Amino acid sequence: MNQKFDAVIVGAGPAGCACGIVLAKAGLETLIVERGKFAGAKNMWGGAFYGPSLSELFPNFWDEAPVERYISRHKFSLLSKDAAFSADFTTKKFGEPPYNGFSLLRSKFDRWFASKAEQAGAVVATGLEAEDLLWEGNAVAGIKAGGDELPANVVIACDGVNSILAEKAGLRGKISPRDIKQGVKEVIQLPRQIIEQRFNLQGEEGTAWEFIGSFSRGLPGGAFIYTNQENLSVGVVVQLDKLAEKEVSANDLLEDFKRHPEVANLLAEGQLMEYSAHLVPVGGKAMMPGLYTDGMLVAGDAAGLTLSTGLVLEGANFAIASGKAAAETVIRAKKRGDFSKKSLSHYPQLLKQSFVLKDLTSFEKAPSLLENPRFYSQYPEMVCELAEKVFTSDGLPRKKLWSMLRESQRGKISFWRLLRDLLRIKRSL
Ligand SMILES: Cc1cc2nc3c(=O)[nH]c(=O)nc-3n(C[C@H](O)[C@H](O)[C@H](O)COP(=O)(O)OP(=O)(O)OC[C@H]3O[C@@H](n4cnc5c(N)ncnc54)[C@H](O)[C@@H]3O)c2cc1C
Repeated sequence: MNQKFDAVIVGAGPAGCACGIVLAKAGLETLIVERGKFAGAKNMWGGAFYGPSLSELFPNFWDEAPVERYISRHKFSLLSKDAAFSADFTTKKFGEPPYNGFSLLRSKFDRWFASKAEQAGAVVATGLEAEDLLWEGNAVAGIKAGGDELPANVVIACDGVNSILAEKAGLRGKISPRDIKQGVKEVIQLPRQIIEQRFNLQGEEGTAWEFIGSFSRGLPGGAFIYTNQENLSVGVVVQLDKLAEKEVSANDLLEDFKRHPEVANLLAEGQLMEYSAHLVPVGGKAMMPGLYTDGMLVAGDAAGLTLSTGLVLEGANFAIASGKAAAETVIRAKKRGDFSKKSLSHYPQLLKQSFVLKDLTSFEKAPSLLENPRFYSQYPEMVCELAEKVFTSDGLPRKKLWSMLRESQRGKISFWRLLRDLLRIKRSL
């Protein structure tokens, strides 16, 4: 019989590492099992990280963590076929500690985070895949991995969006492709100076830029560019079931995005360094599985804990906060010597007190709002057409803004539909 751990965590992403650090610091025998050759080897994302949850573990983490740039500028653009309408926000405040967010690359960041778990006393076993759960009666009692049985008082599934462990524990069924977006991303190398010129940045400043519009061919989804030190993270994220319905690949949409004149200028002469693809859960509260059972908890993407509002896609901070809440629940359970479902029901209570379930509840209508195809075709076209009319000087008498708006709207969308969409935005966001 192998050593019995207090806790076995499956997955060394943000949720698993945060959970492991809190458990190991409290003196619990903790094992983190990661299937990648190293933590972060298989992980990708867009790249804007918001830090308060990590600051609670490591104040001033930016001094040692491999962050690329702090995000000082947020941009949002609506793209029609050949035009772009953009909002650009920057503030000096985001450039001062504790900063508001950072761009970063997961292969470096997850490795650093896992090393912090090791320093705290957790054992991190990489290149090891959890294949199944161990059971004692109706209670989860460990995992099977690499042909071995690894017993534990509690298993914390931090194994990401496709969590096989949550499924095997009966906490969720198959995820609907409607609740998932497919992300594809390229890392494009450019000299630091060029990045800073093109994005109007100085020193360590960085840009997070979100796009919606013509490139997604009316499918619910968006694109992003995040500036790193000497490369850009460029990608699209699109609802999986719609891709299948329309028989388009996310990669086709990424190519369309990169060809848009506004984007092509930013990427010109860049060298492709890396290509990756990953799924992201975006169904919000409605897709949340059961979060606990006897001997087991589920955290991060495995529990569907991300926030997608069209303007932001945040998951890493939700993963860290839920990983920490899971760890606090296990520490409490260890003190009581009780790892039953009843004892572990403390976990959702902690999540309800934190931003994790508060945000998911506030924005629970956002996922269905974001399925509206008009946001990805008619509205970007309408706004770009209106802006073109406003800024065109053709020697003819100018029309008033209202009549230009009516002209741009006509044939694309009825006034009542526009009003209804505005009301839905108000209710959902
Ligand atoms: C394209 C894209 C863009 C995104 N952009 C952002 C963004 O800008 N900002 C943001 O905050 N979030 C973003 N996200 C979401 C964010 O990446 C996730 O919410 C976050 O990574 C969740 O962390 P996690 O630890 O729960 O899961 P993951 O990061 O998925 O980690 C799970 C880990 O478990 C391991 N694993 C899985 N199964 C097993 C197994 N059976 N045995 C052993 N190990 C296993 C995996 O290898 C992985 O290391 C984005 C996601 C995508 C796909």
